[in-house]
Amino acid sequence: MPSETLKDRKSLPDVTPMMRQYLEVKAEYEDYILMYRLGDFYECFFDDAMIASQELELTLTGRDCGGGRRAAMCGVPYHKSDVYITKLVDKGYKVAICEQVEDPKAATGLVRREVVRVVTPGTLTDGAVLNEGENNYLAAICFGTERIGLAFADVSTGTIRATSFFGDDKIVKLKNELCAYQPAELIMNKLDKDGKSIAKLLSERFDTMVNSAEKRFFDYEAARQHIEAAFSNDERCMINSELTMALGALLIYIEHTQKITAQVSKNVEIYTTNEYLELDYNTRRNLELTSSMRAKEKRGSLMWVLNRTKTAMGERLLRSWIIKPLISVSGITNRQKYVKTLVNNSRIRDELEEALSAVLDLERLMGKAVYGTANARDLQSIGASLSNLPRIKSVISQISEFAESDIYKEFDTLDDISNLLLRAIVDNPPLTIREGDIIRLGFNDDVDYYRDIKENGQSIMKSIEEREKEATGIKTLKVGSNNVFGYYIEVTKSFVDQVPERYIRRQTLTNCERYITQELKEMETTIYTAEEKLVTLEYEIFCSLRNLLRENNERIHRAAEIVAEIDVYRSLAEVASKNGYVCPEIDLSHDIVIKDGRHPVVEKFVTDSYFVPNDTYLNTTDNRLMIITGPNMAGKSTYMRQVAIITIMAQIGSFVPAREARVGIVDKVFTRVGASDDLASGQSTFMLEMTEVATILKNATQSSLIIYDEVGRGTSTYDGMAIARAVVEYTHSKRVGAKTMFATHYHELTDMENSFEGIVNYNIAAKKKQDSIVFLRKIVKGGTDDSYGIEVAKLAGVPSEVVKRAKEILKDIEESSYIAGVKPKAEEKNEVFDLLSVIDESKESEAAEKIRATDINTITPIEAMSLLYELKKMLEG
Ligand code: ADP
Repeated sequence: MPSETLKDRKSLPDVTPMMRQYLEVKAEYEDYILMYRLGDFYECFFDDAMIASQELELTLTGRDCGGGRRAAMCGVPYHKSDVYITKLVDKGYKVAICEQVEDPKAATGLVRREVVRVVTPGTLTDGAVLNEGENNYLAAICFGTERIGLAFADVSTGTIRATSFFGDDKIVKLKNELCAYQPAELIMNKLDKDGKSIAKLLSERFDTMVNSAEKRFFDYEAARQHIEAAFSNDERCMINSELTMALGALLIYIEHTQKITAQVSKNVEIYTTNEYLELDYNTRRNLELTSSMRAKEKRGSLMWVLNRTKTAMGERLLRSWIIKPLISVSGITNRQKYVKTLVNNSRIRDELEEALSAVLDLERLMGKAVYGTANARDLQSIGASLSNLPRIKSVISQISEFAESDIYKEFDTLDDISNLLLRAIVDNPPLTIREGDIIRLGFNDDVDYYRDIKENGQSIMKSIEEREKEATGIKTLKVGSNNVFGYYIEVTKSFVDQVPERYIRRQTLTNCERYITQELKEMETTIYTAEEKLVTLEYEIFCSLRNLLRENNERIHRAAEIVAEIDVYRSLAEVASKNGYVCPEIDLSHDIVIKDGRHPVVEKFVTDSYFVPNDTYLNTTDNRLMIITGPNMAGKSTYMRQVAIITIMAQIGSFVPAREARVGIVDKVFTRVGASDDLASGQSTFMLEMTEVATILKNATQSSLIIYDEVGRGTSTYDGMAIARAVVEYTHSKRVGAKTMFATHYHELTDMENSFEGIVNYNIAAKKKQDSIVFLRKIVKGGTDDSYGIEVAKLAGVPSEVVKRAKEILKDIEESSYIAGVKPKAEEKNEVFDLLSVIDESKESEAAEKIRATDINTITPIEAMSLLYELKKMLEG
């Protein structure tokens, strides 16, 4: 019998009651894969079954759905469902879990079922499937007429942030922000032109699941009610209607997926993007701030160097600092203060390391507690982690910078909660919460009582036996049990006359009688129900503890934040101390002054020699645009990136790899680096290069820092050179005026130094040695006029034949063109060209003369052919 699709079924009236229930639920969750609980399985039907069987490699079966028809069906065992659900979500599906919501035994007729949870990429809460040190964000955008509201939540950690944008560059800023957070899922209120471009950008770059035009979640009144209570007066003035709606939509969507009231606590942070250094997607990527460009992994990134955090919360916080450095002197110097004191105190660092290492991911564990998915093991972990807080607090109290700070004053070590949890929960609780063995001995009298009965049932019966023997004087009296009669007292026939009246006879055997007593029956019930009662009671206590955590969410969240902050300071101090970094001076000048600066990542990879440090001096007056020339491989890119990264590190609050540094706050960093095709976006290398240049020229200000690496290389030489020069002129002009480093192979640009105040030539020194080249890696003033490309090709192992031939060709080119800046001698050139043109002209005129002299009307085809032949020979000489 063929299986049917959902469409077929909807129109059919004769479905079975169960199938009708299924279809009713499914109608509400049309664009979800619905997992419908049937016994020990979650089943998918119809189209969902087709998809699930294919994506999860499950056998497709069928089930009678009424009217003699069959629905396609496939299922997964409920206790293994997490793995399958995660797989589906990973593959870009949204999953709705439909549970039995009443006890099948108690149900009359069909068991009631409801969707109890919806799993989407942006609302995952299970720590096991999420990256530990990274956030998993859900974003909501509300496009208004003038403004755009944007809100982010990491449901797994409880982090919620929101902001809004207005003005001409609002879309640019919105995109930068989205690229910083890289949300796993996005909801928007409409899909207009901007919405479409954002949806495309995010789905291509980050595989974001975009739920466009989800108007139903964007309701101003509902949003206002949701968030009203959460904000202080200060914050309220930053909240406009778009921000309210974005935040509201986010919370309503979380409720819709998690099926519980979303917690809008004081943890919601309202911010504006102008509190942070502006970095666009390209710059973060090009500078490899959080992942390396080629391998797209942490190794080789700034995060990789700076991360010595000991907690997952610390790691996530550090990452957020790296993607969003600060722009306020006080904010930065405040962070520096803590790093500095820890740099100077290795003993405290070590003590903190030990205490922090014992703190698990409190934010995610609390996320599970809040959303009701935490088990006893999670609660035990929370208790054990919290029990380290007093120690952390006492360690930092030894340093005045900390002891006098809000970090210390606001540090609630949550002793009440950790004590309670550790007292309540056994050391190694089971994963299930409905089978007991969770609550520790001595925590609750009833639990102890029932457990005692459960575990000591036999000895209790033994003591009854002893007592009864004594009371009746029957030496052979025994208490036994069987499956049919339960517990009984057995008396051999010869003593039957000594049996007291309170004994009730139950069974007569050949040589004995069996009795029960009121007490025995009661005890029996107690023993048999003790286990059941114990399990229920333990579950109730567990739930009340989980609720208590939920009620204390804000406190615990704040403590976790403080732990994360301390962890990050310790990490930055550790790295600074191990790598020989210095504390940069931060001010509001427009200068960047670096003595013996190094690239923090490249220096880790230079192992066969040592990393050559270099100085930098940039300002907005006489040294504002460096034109950097030098051979390939000399270190131009490394040098420019190092300046940008040192600036960013300084604004994060980190120490920097240099002997000395002073950084005037920069508002934005831009990079136009390398020629990497963004194939996904369908743009050519050159188009992309120019798009990036355009963005820089439109958005950079006098306070920005710009890196251009080889601008103009993607087109023909003259074209490229013209563009490069024009870009330098514009960047140098008042319209931009930013501090700029411009690496180029167009040596012709070095003459700009003479005509533009503030443009200065630099080169990275290299020496030609016989046929080869030695890189000195030192930046020096002045330009070069040689790219040493062929020498570098030779070094790279290009076959010697090719290298030799390249040299010959170069020689020819140099002798015959202007391109390399080597002018051929004027007389020679003219002679050659003149001669060529004379020959050409004379031949052509001779041929033309011959054609004119021919009468086409009278010649035969054979004559015409031979004339053609003759003419051709004539022209070819
Ligand atoms: P360019 O941009 O001039 O082609 P790169 O900046 O890509 O050159 O540098 C090439 C390689 O040279 C780097 O990968 C690094 O290994 C090495 N290098 C660069 N700068 C230095 C330095 N200051 N000290 C030591 N090695 C360096």
